[in-house]
Amino acid sequence: MTATSELTPERRAALREKYRLERDKRLRGDGNNQYIEPSGRFAHVIEDPYTPRVEREPVHDDVTVAIVGAGFSGLVTAAALKKAGIDDVRLIDAAGDVGGVWYWNRYPGAMCDTAAMIYLPLLEETGTVPSAKYVPAYEIFAHARSIATTFNLYDHALLSTSTTDVRWDDTRSRWVISTDRGDEFTAQFVATGTGPLHRPKLPGIDGIDDFAGHTFHTSRWEYDYTGGTPEGSPMVNLGSKRVGIIGTGATAVQCIPRLGRDSGELFVFQRTPSSIDERNNHPIDPEWFAKLQKGWQREWLRNFTVLQTGGYADEDLVMDGWTDISVRIRDRVAARVLAGEPLGPETTLAAYEDADDEKMEQIRARVDTIVNDPATAAALKPWYRQLCKRPCFHDEYLQTYNLPNVHLVDTDGQGVERIDATGVWANGEHFDLDCIVFASGFEVGTDLSRRAGFQITGRDGTTLEEHWTTGMRTLHGTHVDGFPNLFLLATAQAANLISNVPHNYVEGGDAIAAVVAHARRTGASTVEPTREDIDAWLTRIQARQGSVIGSPDCTPGYYNNEGMPLEGDQQLNGGAFIEGAVAYFEYLEQWWRSGEFAGLHFS
Ligand code: NDP
Repeated sequence: MTATSELTPERRAALREKYRLERDKRLRGDGNNQYIEPSGRFAHVIEDPYTPRVEREPVHDDVTVAIVGAGFSGLVTAAALKKAGIDDVRLIDAAGDVGGVWYWNRYPGAMCDTAAMIYLPLLEETGTVPSAKYVPAYEIFAHARSIATTFNLYDHALLSTSTTDVRWDDTRSRWVISTDRGDEFTAQFVATGTGPLHRPKLPGIDGIDDFAGHTFHTSRWEYDYTGGTPEGSPMVNLGSKRVGIIGTGATAVQCIPRLGRDSGELFVFQRTPSSIDERNNHPIDPEWFAKLQKGWQREWLRNFTVLQTGGYADEDLVMDGWTDISVRIRDRVAARVLAGEPLGPETTLAAYEDADDEKMEQIRARVDTIVNDPATAAALKPWYRQLCKRPCFHDEYLQTYNLPNVHLVDTDGQGVERIDATGVWANGEHFDLDCIVFASGFEVGTDLSRRAGFQITGRDGTTLEEHWTTGMRTLHGTHVDGFPNLFLLATAQAANLISNVPHNYVEGGDAIAAVVAHARRTGASTVEPTREDIDAWLTRIQARQGSVIGSPDCTPGYYNNEGMPLEGDQQLNGGAFIEGAVAYFEYLEQWWRSGEFAGLHFS
């Protein structure tokens, strides 16, 4: 069944029931607690395997802005500050280089599902020419480094350095930053860009400590063990090995084709299949790229965001799976309104279901056209709405299951039962393995200090975590009362554009740079919103779980807190500006360009 015309009311009712059954099968009482922190024999999972630690003298100085996190949020914000004339900007990162997730994630096949033309920030400033519509991780990492070089961000940077404490000193109107290298320096402003998905987590499977073979997490790929390189040369050491991979999310979808190609035998332990749409990658013509007019990237960013959030534009510059999802929904809304339905949330939701049913039927039908074995094909079909989990796009993933050495071990939503010294138990069967790769994702929704590795203590000695016991409370997702001169580099309580995360940082970075430049110009030593300013802002935020992403009706995953609805104010933790991402970006630009910075107080 591929076409909407075949989507009879009976079929659609059956789909609802199937989705509910599949979700219920996966709901578990322990929610997020099913995952464990890497410790003991797994402590290496949070260490840096790529850059040796070089001893250095501790730093005790003062900078205007310290940014914890040298991924795209830190880099883009630092670049904006540099452009605004702030020279002493310090990036701090546990990693041995800049790049954030693109430093850590070097697993074979790693690439970005969002088009490089919009995903790679500051292309015009750096002169980077993306090689293809979707580029590999190593190319993104190289681009991150070129941002750092272009804006001289290595000059003050402290890399291979973990922040251990960030504390406001009211007498000096300075933040005091401490690190694991004995550094203790001050900064007038601190920004935290520690990322939403950076701390690896492991499944709390019984016996996980007992396995006698080799293990690693996808975000710390051990090429010493596997052989090969991130650039794709074969992992020759795996040729004689029985390899298991636990997890089939966006990461696994990208590395399974390479593991299938190179492993003696590959066993994929699946709890929930991802939805796999086509990718259709193609090279970018450098001559075409060179002819783009100055200012093109901002235009592309806004164009993508307009279309990705249901708006209209003369053309679809990016034209990918993301804009396809939203343009389908938008056109269904329009058709329903033309047929006389009122424009409102009910019509939008109904249109979303129309478009989604059609798309998911296509995605399931695509599995049958690619995967030869009918039982394997059936097990690879996702039974949920496309935005319940991270949509995936790949042209080799499903094909991998046709290889004779690749075995899908579908667990019907139950997951791996147990691990012992010699392998993995699933469906009551034991699988002998030499190596287990954990593609089990990253911590989301756990304590902020645990994910960041440090506490932020504000003016009255209260930590940010204590300040937020009933939920996140910010102005623009960035400013917090009681925490002067602090900028949170994140996406929630702002645009929350998750299909192109760096866009949030590009727009947010301009605003932060304008705030710092204004403070400098006016001689203000502190910048802070009041509680009332934040209350007013939160009335403009819509809870994430009220939207199609993160709905409790969805199959569990990190998008919906593993199916456990958030309580009270916590519903706003992953919330977004009610009028949408485009309206937010326009609002923010007008906010800082006006020079009035409504809701922020300079003193
Ligand atoms: P995910 O959290 O998406 O996936 C974790 C996987 O582990 C899921 O398939 C989960 O199953 C599975 N799992 C957990 N416990 C068990 C168990 N006991 N037995 C079997 N399976 C288990 O992590 P990823 O690293 O795949 O992706 C995280 C995010 O990183 C993505 O959502 C995306 O935002 C980002 N990413 C982005 C890319 C890009 O293109 N820009 C590329 C790759 C990742 P279940 O689904 O049932 O919970």
